[in-house]
Amino acid sequence: MDVRQLLMPVFSGVTLDGPSRMLRVDSKPIKVETSPGHVEIAFLHVIESEGSSHTDLRVAAIYDRSPIHTFMFDSEGAMLTANQAALLAHQRSALGLTASHGSAITLRSLFDCGSYDGGQQEAQAAYDEAVDCHRHIHPHISKKDGRTKWAMIEMWPMQDPVTAGSAVLAKKYNISQQKELELQLASQQVALQRQNQELEQDSVIMQEEQRKLQREANSLAQRLEAVLHDKFTPRSGFDADTPIDKTLQFLQGVIAGDMPPVQTALDLYHILSESDTNLRQPVGLESQLLQHSLGSEVGQSMLQLLQGNSSAPRGGEGLIISGPVCMLSDKRACLESAAAQSSGLARHGSMTKQQQQQLFIPTNVTPDVERRLYDAESNWQFDIFGYAEACHGKCLSMLTFHLMKQTGIIKEHGLDESKLCHFLQKIESGYDSANPYHNSVHVASVVQMSHMLLCHGGVLKSGAMNRQQQVATYWSAMVHDHEHGGLNNDFLIKSRHPLAITYNDQSPLENHHLASAVRLLLQPEYQYIPASHCSAEATAQFRIVAVNQVLGTDMKKHFDITSRFQMVMKCADIGHLAAAARTHKRWAYQLEEEFFRQGDKERSCGLSVSPLMDRSTQGGMTRSQMGFFSIVGIPLFKAMAEVFEDAQPMLDGVMANYHHWEAATPEADLPA
Ligand SMILES: [Zn+2]
Repeated sequence: MDVRQLLMPVFSGVTLDGPSRMLRVDSKPIKVETSPGHVEIAFLHVIESEGSSHTDLRVAAIYDRSPIHTFMFDSEGAMLTANQAALLAHQRSALGLTASHGSAITLRSLFDCGSYDGGQQEAQAAYDEAVDCHRHIHPHISKKDGRTKWAMIEMWPMQDPVTAGSAVLAKKYNISQQKELELQLASQQVALQRQNQELEQDSVIMQEEQRKLQREANSLAQRLEAVLHDKFTPRSGFDADTPIDKTLQFLQGVIAGDMPPVQTALDLYHILSESDTNLRQPVGLESQLLQHSLGSEVGQSMLQLLQGNSSAPRGGEGLIISGPVCMLSDKRACLESAAAQSSGLARHGSMTKQQQQQLFIPTNVTPDVERRLYDAESNWQFDIFGYAEACHGKCLSMLTFHLMKQTGIIKEHGLDESKLCHFLQKIESGYDSANPYHNSVHVASVVQMSHMLLCHGGVLKSGAMNRQQQVATYWSAMVHDHEHGGLNNDFLIKSRHPLAITYNDQSPLENHHLASAVRLLLQPEYQYIPASHCSAEATAQFRIVAVNQVLGTDMKKHFDITSRFQMVMKCADIGHLAAAARTHKRWAYQLEEEFFRQGDKERSCGLSVSPLMDRSTQGGMTRSQMGFFSIVGIPLFKAMAEVFEDAQPMLDGVMANYHHWEAATPEADLPA
């Protein structure tokens, strides 16, 4: 063999003539010293052919220059040949400059890179001619940088053109970049899937959260409804509807197109056709109170309190009280009591000049009282007891004057301040501080509550009352219990008290409060309303308001209340139901004490003691609080708040106290 020919680079463009069939092409790496001390690797291509041709050379050139690592292996897996790129890549590290040439490349060693320990099976399978192309992808760790590389090996079964034996053409592609992208994509997909799952979970959680919130909202709404129902539906089961209410409801149903049951119509017919039906009193009040809901003594007391026709002495009492004017002469204590009351009524004569000069000057008050007076202007739960203690016995006159002045009605109506002060002082002295309940503090509280309803409860704002009626309302409030003796109408009537005689048992107390105060107002020294405001018409208006309001405070007229004037005074009179719990309780126990004192008096007179007024039995009038709230207080304040929604704080206060009593009332006294 010609060595020059052997050394000649295959791709140098040298033409060779030779056999047309290539028998063998071989490449071997050799070291060539290209310059002194500088050695490079070169490849020696050995071509054995049966007469070479240009075509063979070109084929050889393509094969050799292809960047794809290309190998040919014989049937044993030994390398027959490989192109430059393949040899360079696969032999460089093994070769080194000192290593011997031709370190073995085999079909298996293609797979035998780093992590993958020889492709025994793949190499075996490569000879299966039934398969066109065997493809294997495998990773390996690069020896160079330790990174994972990916390669694809494609193998075609073929015939060795030289030996005509079976052989394999193998190509190896670096697919690391592609694989990396694939892996990135896959990991992104995984991440995306995870995100989707999380979002789905989030959405599930949010839906669950939403459902939970919805459930909570529903339950809150139900609770609110229950509270409102509880709030506006007293537990007594007491039916407060009057025949008028029932008729109106029936007619409303008919107008709305409902077909009311015949029984309802029949019931209504019976109610209305009863000769003694009081159209303005709850149907069957007495039986309801005594049988339906309240304990018997509590029911008796409520009945006595509310029912207009209970004035006549009942049972054996008629025998005891037989005297035409007063009690039997041998009931000494009783006589004394009546005498005391009579003298009490008479003891307020005209004031002397000196007394008049001692009148308070309302503007000259201590800072504490002043602060409390300003508080009274707009506080629904004004601390009346704290205020009364701070101003030493002038609580009514000072408060009334202050409120009237602050609202501007004194100026607006040209009221005579000095005479107003005299009148107030005079009225205040007509309240007995010895009464636990019906004293000037109670009356001051009624004035304050009336003021609240007018100025903050929406009564004036709505036009339900005008400024003239406002003047009359302050007057009614300040006189509404004038010269109250601490004994109720029932006592006055059954003891044949002069007031009961004078007023024929018709609201003797209220008639007296009103008449005695009017008599005072008619005296020139107290006439604080200027003559210019006393036309016949104005006076008539004033009297209508005052008479309605003061007479309306009789509890027996409770179900007869028809006008808004009356409602205002009525609410104010029992306004302590809406006071702060401490204040309200104090009033309740003071009223109970006043009732006990009446009970003491009844016993000492030989009269039967009124229900809940006997201090020797367990509990007094406070036992009837639930009933009083249910039957009187709540319906009244509810009606007020319905007409004047600004008065809602008052109803709220009432309900708070109602629940307080509900919690504190023993089972036995709870309405059914
Ligand atoms: Zn009162």
